[in-house]
Amino acid sequence: MQRRRRIEMEEVERLRRQWLERCEELSEAFVEEAARRGISLDYSETVLQGLERFLRRQRATVSVRISQKARRGLMLGASAYLAQVILRNMGGKLGWETSFQTVSVDDVGSQGIKALPLERVREPVEEGWGEPLKEYYQRIEEAVEARARGDWRLNEADAWGQIQDRIHSLREVGRHTLGDTGRLDASLLPLTYCPACRRLDGREGAPLKPRLDQLRRGFPLLVRTTLSEARWDRCSNCGGQLLPLGYSFSTLGWHLLRSGEGGLRSPLSGKVPEREEVYLTALNTTLQRGMFLRGLVHRAKKKITEIEVDELEELKGGQFLVPLPSTPFYF
Ligand SMILES: [Zn+2]
Repeated sequence: MQRRRRIEMEEVERLRRQWLERCEELSEAFVEEAARRGISLDYSETVLQGLERFLRRQRATVSVRISQKARRGLMLGASAYLAQVILRNMGGKLGWETSFQTVSVDDVGSQGIKALPLERVREPVEEGWGEPLKEYYQRIEEAVEARARGDWRLNEADAWGQIQDRIHSLREVGRHTLGDTGRLDASLLPLTYCPACRRLDGREGAPLKPRLDQLRRGFPLLVRTTLSEARWDRCSNCGGQLLPLGYSFSTLGWHLLRSGEGGLRSPLSGKVPEREEVYLTALNTTLQRGMFLRGLVHRAKKKITEIEVDELEELKGGQFLVPLPSTPFYF
């Protein structure tokens, strides 16, 4: 199973790399295929609705018996076409987004904006729902215009400061819960930022409480879904588009201690390794900065007696964390 999955992933990556080399060709072939089915595509914004209809129809006719391969072909062709629409109308260059292992259109409109057309087309093809492509395109267009006007300048130091404040207040709430109940659910909080108001979205959304199986098996997917859903929320102040700035994940965990000179004690020895309970938060952002916060939890007779002051460790890049795109301006 493991091996099969690895081979599948290699195949996906190979196809995506090919997409990069043959984007224009794939797009032309897709236009011809659509024309055979009576839909004319001319790379203009106005026919994006036609593309949408075509995708949904194709999905409806083929989804019953469609092979994985045919669906993949449809997705590669349609996303190549979408990429070409963006390139021809707004400018940019094809690229590769390491964090999602996918193709991208970089520096759209020379404004440092990154579009992920394949991820966007996946929604109507695989799920049969999602943001209409025309709206998606218009969101990018608005972002390009706002950036060009200078309205959407992100002061990273300021944003990072706001994130830290938010996390510290979140930790305070966690401490109280822990002190009162002795328990704490794991929670995932998406961090979104309004580039027009230049602040983290003020709404105190309730953090997600992921189930244990979600944590074990699909944490990266959970993070991505949470982040991409967070952008449908509008700024509580101006009603504008929000950018995904990252996430924080808090949980109670165990920290293994070194015992003497022997390093970590083996869990195979049958003995419970020496360990301590910690309240920990991992923070990861599209600003390429992250941190770990760790407070020791002391219990006596199952009652919390103390939670030590946070120990902080700043992380650069994706160390231990789910990789996120290198810019908050990704669409
Ligand atoms: Zn706002």
